[in-house]
Amino acid sequence: MLIEEVTENVSELVEKLHFAEKVERSLSLIERAYKEFGDGLVVANSLGKDSSAVWHLAKRVSPKIRGFIVTTRFKPPETKKFMAEEVSRYPELKVFSNEQEIPDKLYEVDPDKCCDILKVQPTRDAIKDMDIKCWITGLRCTEGRTRTDYKEIEERDVGLLKLNPILIWYEREIWQYLALHQVIVNPLYLKGYRSLGCWPCTKIAQGKDERAGRWIGTSKCGGECGIHTKPLISDYQI
Ligand code: SF4
Repeated sequence: MLIEEVTENVSELVEKLHFAEKVERSLSLIERAYKEFGDGLVVANSLGKDSSAVWHLAKRVSPKIRGFIVTTRFKPPETKKFMAEEVSRYPELKVFSNEQEIPDKLYEVDPDKCCDILKVQPTRDAIKDMDIKCWITGLRCTEGRTRTDYKEIEERDVGLLKLNPILIWYEREIWQYLALHQVIVNPLYLKGYRSLGCWPCTKIAQGKDERAGRWIGTSKCGGECGIHTKPLISDYQI
């Protein structure tokens, strides 16, 4: 079983493997997960570059692999348009959102709560609704300070595996893969963004930390929305 396999030291693999070996490793992880979980294996597609690469890899393993997108009322128009195009290209992508009323500018006063309501809760809904046993993410350990400790295969919630098949890829290798396979990507990258999110919480940022432009000026700066850190299948309530 996938979870019982030893996950090697990922930081070593980041340096040790070349691009083609990383692609092979990612495909093999998805293939093995698909054999084990079949329809219960689902890709979380955030419409960013890493998700586009993971989605393409999963489609190479099987065109039948499903996906889900969590969207919010604050996604930029470019992302909303790209989402509509992706869903029409891939009807097996299901969209989840939470339209409940929230206080005005909650993203300024309590971004953690805003993300809990608008991102984490719809992720829980997706996992339940699609009967997901193993979800595939586009997490990478070189993305920023909050992403260095993940494993390729994790069980953060009992009964729900998380597969991070491109964990050891560099940002450059993502673009290499997308260019070589001519994958259509979110047009916001043309403007200089390196990490995409909701418009009030995402700025164009330079430097080593790809996620530095997220939640600038708040306690969450360069941080996480919560889908990788909060319980996803418990009775936890916001
Ligand atoms: S990224 Fe910002 S606007 Fe989007 S859910 Fe989180 S706090 Fe709210």
